[in-house]
Amino acid sequence: MARISVHDKEFDVYLSEEEIQGKVRELAARLALDYKDKKPLFIAILNGSFMFASDIFKHLNIDAEICFIKLASYKGMRSTGNVVTAIGLDQDLYNRDVVIIEDIVDTGKTLFHFLPKLQHQQPASLKIVSLLHKKEATIFDLTVDYVGFTIPDKFVVGYGLDYDGLGRNLKEIYQLSAAT
Ligand code: 5GP
Ligand code: MG
Repeated sequence: MARISVHDKEFDVYLSEEEIQGKVRELAARLALDYKDKKPLFIAILNGSFMFASDIFKHLNIDAEICFIKLASYKGMRSTGNVVTAIGLDQDLYNRDVVIIEDIVDTGKTLFHFLPKLQHQQPASLKIVSLLHKKEATIFDLTVDYVGFTIPDKFVVGYGLDYDGLGRNLKEIYQLSAAT
C-alpha cells in the first residue's frame, strides 16, 4: 500500500518492509561483531522502539541481555531545563557494555538529557543504536553510534512509531504526505 491515512493525515510509504528488515539484519551483524564476548546489556526505550528492539535482538546471535524502559521528562524546579527519569531501569550498569535502542533520534534532546543518568552508574561503555536519525534536526550534542537510516526532517509513522497512538503496527515506515 503506497498511500495510507492515519487519523486526519495522509502518509506515503518511505521504507519498505524489506528495506527495514535488511537494515535490521545488517545492524545486528555489526553489533554481534562489536560485542562478541562482551555480554552487552541492551536498553530499549518504549514505546516507539519495541518492534525494532524485538527484531534486532532476535537477529543478534551472541550472548546479550535486554531490558525495556520508559522515559518521563518534566521541567526542573528551577530553570535547569528538562529532567529525564527512567521508569523500569532496575539493572546495575556498573562495568556493563550498554547499548541504548531507540526508534528515532530527532533533536537529540531526550537522549542528551538521559545519557548522564546512565553514565553516573559507570558502565564500561555506552552506545546508541537508532533505526532512524533526523540528522539535520539534531541540535543537541549527541553521537548516534549505529544508525539504520538517516532521514529528512519529516514526520514518520509505522514500525513502532505512532501518530497520536495509531500506526505502530504498520510493517513499513511512512512519511507525511507533501499534499497534507
Ligand atoms: P528527540 O528527543 O530526539 O527530539 O526525539 C524524541 C522522540 O520524539 C522520539 O523518540 C520519538 O518518540 C519522537 N519523534 C521524533 N520524530 C518523530 C517522527 O517523525 N515520528 C514519530 N512518530 N515520532 C517522532
Ligand atoms: Mg522514542
